Amino acid sequence: MRAALYYGRQDLRLTSVPDPEAGPGDVKLRVLYNGICGSDLLEYFDGPVTTRDTPHPLTGVQNPVIMGHELCGEVVALGAGIEDLAVGTLVAVEPVETCGRCLHCGLGQYNHCPTLAIQGYNRAGGLAEYTVVKRRMTHPLPPGVSALQGALIEPLAIAWHTVNRCAVSAGQVVAIHGAGPIGAGAFLTLKRRGVEAIVVDPSPTRRAALAGLGARTVLDPNACDVVAAIRDLTGGRGADASIDAAGGAKAFAAMLHGTRVDGTAVVVAIHHEPVVIPPFDLLMPEVRLTGVALSVNAFPAVIAEMARGSYPLAGWVETIPFDGVIEQGIERLRRQEGMKIVVDVAGGAGERRPGERA
Ligand SMILES: [Zn+2]
Ligand SMILES: [Zn+2]
Repeated sequence: MRAALYYGRQDLRLTSVPDPEAGPGDVKLRVLYNGICGSDLLEYFDGPVTTRDTPHPLTGVQNPVIMGHELCGEVVALGAGIEDLAVGTLVAVEPVETCGRCLHCGLGQYNHCPTLAIQGYNRAGGLAEYTVVKRRMTHPLPPGVSALQGALIEPLAIAWHTVNRCAVSAGQVVAIHGAGPIGAGAFLTLKRRGVEAIVVDPSPTRRAALAGLGARTVLDPNACDVVAAIRDLTGGRGADASIDAAGGAKAFAAMLHGTRVDGTAVVVAIHHEPVVIPPFDLLMPEVRLTGVALSVNAFPAVIAEMARGSYPLAGWVETIPFDGVIEQGIERLRRQEGMKIVVDVAGGAGERRPGERA
């Protein structure tokens, strides 16, 4: 089968590999769509970061590894012991395999499992015609949710968890720094929950995309003092919570300083460089600074929200052919072109599934 195999920094090869087989407890999928993510860019340009040159303790997988962790596929085969899933079912994949035995797995915080293996980095991923996942990694999609929508569940689950980490409620205000896919997903999630959002991004394309999704307050950080603007918009207080979905020092500082006293600052962006934080900037405002570890128990809720139409794709999601994964995908995202780029792995087959809208 065709697959995109990661060998190391700036070495992703479109090549042919043997088809995987479903072992006991496994589900074999024909991959329909697989999105490209900021973490894929980090791995490609700065890696190996998440992939390994030694065997992963849980899966034994090491480079080269098939990339891709934002995927939707159709069940084509079931391993021994799987009786609650039918061949032909469309599923979104939660791209984590966990040990199931450690303290965190026992507490339901499986996103903190120390031997967590991520699909597309520590086990074979979705940039391939077929992939094999554990049954518990699959989330069947209800009728009416398309394969393309299914490939967006993973990044939207990260956005969902990011919003949960903000610990805000309806009527409060969240500043989103960075209007890429996670920023867009966070905006739509906040909107659904009745939380006001202030969106900040230097890209006119991304600001327009967020305005198109319904964002009422969209700021250009190169055209205004963002922190002053956020304070003006919040009666001088600052945002109840702020999200760094941008990943630069400037956005990080704006996140911290635009948050109100006793508010929450949440980092979800991947930073390529360290950021210096004067501890005094945390001390007096008593801002809580925290992060986002993938997502936990978010897939069912996000799939339900997708089914009810909370996540329109217009203006921020585009598809590219498998052959274009580097030039039309990774390279363009590096230049900040496009927002969510999804690889049409099956050459349009995902759109042709009967009974579903594309
Ligand atoms: Zn991702
Ligand atoms: Zn564990």
